[in-house]
Amino acid sequence: MASIEMKNIVKKYGDGFPAVNDVSLDIADGEFMILVGPSGCGKSTLLRMIVGLEDITSGDMVIGGTRVNDKAPRDRNLSMVFQNYALYPHMSVYENIAFPLRLSKTPDDQVDRLVKEAADVLELHEHLDRKPANLSGGQRQRVAMGRAIVRQAEAFLFDEPLSNLDAKLRGQMRTEIARLQRRLGITTVYVTHDQTEAMTLGDRVCVLRKGSIQQVASPRELYEQP
Ligand code: ADP
Ligand code: ADP
Repeated sequence: MASIEMKNIVKKYGDGFPAVNDVSLDIADGEFMILVGPSGCGKSTLLRMIVGLEDITSGDMVIGGTRVNDKAPRDRNLSMVFQNYALYPHMSVYENIAFPLRLSKTPDDQVDRLVKEAADVLELHEHLDRKPANLSGGQRQRVAMGRAIVRQAEAFLFDEPLSNLDAKLRGQMRTEIARLQRRLGITTVYVTHDQTEAMTLGDRVCVLRKGSIQQVASPRELYEQP
């Protein structure tokens, strides 16, 4: 697990107004930080700079005390959970969760132990032989998180993970993500449009507007009426 420190982060695409304009934000080890703000305010760009999918124009990105500006995504050891879960349809749940361990040539007995531990936490042990197509949306989300858990990633990054789900499932998944994050105590950055998600999930909420931070506050400070 690791803290994420952003210092005067700027992202320019071409000559236009910066997509991210001098953002400084410290996310503590184990903290759940929500990024909110209108469409186009720079949430996804900021998330992609944390994970390394987008170059930083200027400023410093420091993860776990190490400057990572020039580190490739695979060397940052973060786990991005995508909206579409990015599961492999031809592989079982077991192999989907095991995938990062196969890539790093982890010995089979260790893979088995780590996958089963993750399946336990996520209550997926009865589904390990199934294919993703035979799972519910919530179960697929858990498989995607299982993959992050076995990698022992430093942090979870979510880009509107629940926006394609119906209201009932979204509520369930919100509860699951909150439970899982507390249980793992893993640093989490979560982009959403949804005020309920921001209120119930976040330790703090960072409000972005036109590429800049407008406010950073606890959900209570931000949303509760006086
Ligand atoms: P959000 O996630 O808050 O909706 P984005 O981070 O996707 O916002 O976008 C922030 C701004 O940067 C927007 O004005 C968007 O059009 C622009 N932008 C995002 N990605 C690119 C890109 N690859 N090339 C040019 N402009 C981009
Ligand atoms: P989202 O709702 O996921 O933020 P967007 O429409 O903002 O969707 O962006 C979808 C993709 O298009 C992203 O990969 C983003 O980087 C890219 N993109 C967004 N705005 C621009 C732009 N003005 N020029 C080029 N690419 C862009």
